[in-house]
Amino acid sequence: MRGIAAVPTYVVMQPTTLCNLDCSYCYLPFRAVDKRMPVEVAAAVAASVEGFAQAGRFSVVWHGGEPLAAGREHLAALLAPFGPGVEHHVQTNATLIDDAWCEFFAEHGVRVSVSVDGPEPRNEERINKAGIPAYRTILRGIEALHRHGVPFSALCVVSNPRPGLAAELYGYFLELGCEVLGINIEEQEGVNARVNAFADDAVRSFWAELVAAWRTDPRIHVREIEWTLRYAGAVLAGRADGILPAALDPIPTVAADGRVFLLSPELAGFTDPHYGDFSSGNVLTTPLAAILSGAATSAPWIGEYLNGVESCRRSCPYFGFCGGAHAANRYFEHGRFDGTETNHCRNSKIRLLEGVLDHAGAC
Ligand code: SF4
Repeated sequence: MRGIAAVPTYVVMQPTTLCNLDCSYCYLPFRAVDKRMPVEVAAAVAASVEGFAQAGRFSVVWHGGEPLAAGREHLAALLAPFGPGVEHHVQTNATLIDDAWCEFFAEHGVRVSVSVDGPEPRNEERINKAGIPAYRTILRGIEALHRHGVPFSALCVVSNPRPGLAAELYGYFLELGCEVLGINIEEQEGVNARVNAFADDAVRSFWAELVAAWRTDPRIHVREIEWTLRYAGAVLAGRADGILPAALDPIPTVAADGRVFLLSPELAGFTDPHYGDFSSGNVLTTPLAAILSGAATSAPWIGEYLNGVESCRRSCPYFGFCGGAHAANRYFEHGRFDGTETNHCRNSKIRLLEGVLDHAGAC
């Protein structure tokens, strides 16, 4: 894996900066402000995406803020410029989902991923702007999805990995009826300055326990377990070198105002005296395909990040699994991009691989 690919596999779009919740671990700086993406921005992205979609499966992920806070009419106008070969996804807190939204998802073929952190007591960080717990409204949204037969994925933030939690969470998500589960150990990112250093043993046994729970009833695709098993299978088959893509996926994030942020959506909305605003251009003045073809030099921090990835390649035995992790974690933990290990990569790459192998070794 070298450099940055000119063709992404998906693009992240921010239909509004606004979120109707105020979760205490949220990284977004402008979540109280309703700055909506104009249709011209979506049309400009759609023109480039047309070409990307011809190269294979291509997705647009509508992420916020809370994307449903943009309203159905506006979101429909933003979807309209995209051709039929593009898959649409929303990452939503589910609190606004009702019958009308379920009909919208079905009509527009939108795939839904819901953010929920497990049973009610595990959602104490998820509150609305009045400080009231959001769990009951999240659950009402999920019940609407079930009523309408809309399949969904779930994304769960774990703020304090500890013994017993993984089994409890897996049982909960089985009951909830999601098809795919992603687990994010809380990250120190954006306006969330909480330090994400957890005891190595606690994180490692969290992942080992999650695999054990999954193996008792593997009805859910668990993202992190599937990554790990794919890597372990490739190592055993002597194909480990082929597991990482030939070049980094640029993961372009298009902010509400059309600015493009590469490699880490979490950098959108921040400014640094040294690195500037982290953006690589604006789709209102430069086609997205042109921004991506000059990606490696499109913002001052990107070369530094690529140097950091090369340092990882030279120094880290986990590189073949991890690929160098995310730019934003380096920046928000180290204040620069060319460091190597972060708390994030320890929690979500190193301990993950070790935990899954611990489980395999104990079988
Ligand atoms: S696990 Fe950490 S140090 Fe190792 S390659 Fe990934 S980011 Fe770099």
